[in-house]
Amino acid sequence: QKKLLQELKGKENITLDGTKINVFANISGIDNIGAVLLNDAGGIGLFRSEFLYLENSDFPTEEQQFHAYKRVLESMAGKKVIIRTLDIGADKQVDYFGLKKEENPALGLRAIRICLTRPEIFRTQLRALFRASVYGNLGIMFPMITSVSEVERIKAICEEVKAELKSEGIEYSDKTEIGIMIETPAAAIISDRLAPMVDFFSVGTNDLTQYTLACDRQNPDAEEFVDTHHEAILRLIEMSAQNAHKNGVWIGICGELAADTTLTETFLRMGIDELSVSPTFVLKVRDAVRKTDLSK
Ligand code: PEP
Ligand code: MG
Repeated sequence: QKKLLQELKGKENITLDGTKINVFANISGIDNIGAVLLNDAGGIGLFRSEFLYLENSDFPTEEQQFHAYKRVLESMAGKKVIIRTLDIGADKQVDYFGLKKEENPALGLRAIRICLTRPEIFRTQLRALFRASVYGNLGIMFPMITSVSEVERIKAICEEVKAELKSEGIEYSDKTEIGIMIETPAAAIISDRLAPMVDFFSVGTNDLTQYTLACDRQNPDAEEFVDTHHEAILRLIEMSAQNAHKNGVWIGICGELAADTTLTETFLRMGIDELSVSPTFVLKVRDAVRKTDLSK
């Protein structure tokens, strides 16, 4: 790892035939930023904002969130930081949300579905994010998307939040990118319709695998039926990449599969623009990218 770091530090992630790609890091708390910088990641491709909610015994305030987001953006000093709005529910339960116990939580009220049913929680997070946007290079990403109408509603709320900030004389960055996670088969299948609505896609292979193969990611008994390289998953990713590029939208992968270097070449051939992995895998993936030759 140390040798790899010395070798790769400051170098571009470029394949032998000259294709540049971004290798970013996934984090789930401010404490992880040290590891991101240490491993020389090009940015943060997934900041799981859940920690703010999981750490607290009540909803984190706009102020608390603003300071956390500002800190991440400032620490990354202009490098891209993609913050995902809350993905509570299913495997991440928080008491004070007062969510009902569900028979099938992975198929229930989680992530964006909570945000759209309880817009006051969503607005608070979006206000904090847009306020923080002036301190760096922010992208905001929405989880568990399944439809065009969800994205329309999200974008309408973003516009309202921005108008509200403007009327209060609070600054935000117009360069803030808006993206969605492709982590349901529905989103991948209608990615041609979703792409024109956003700036980027990020494939969440953990959930995309769970929902495509109908295997609960929490259930160890189902594990033997989880083929992470299943053709259905790879086809959905490829289809999303094609639809992204047809619309001038960039596409990354932020699920665990992004760190699987036996697939690096496959992903690059699909045209994936960014791979976001846990900080400890950043160097390994950068090394794999630099050894890939797409001209063959
Ligand atoms: C995913 O589903 O692949 C993902 C990156 O999100 P999470 O693991 O937080 O659900
Ligand atoms: Mg997910």
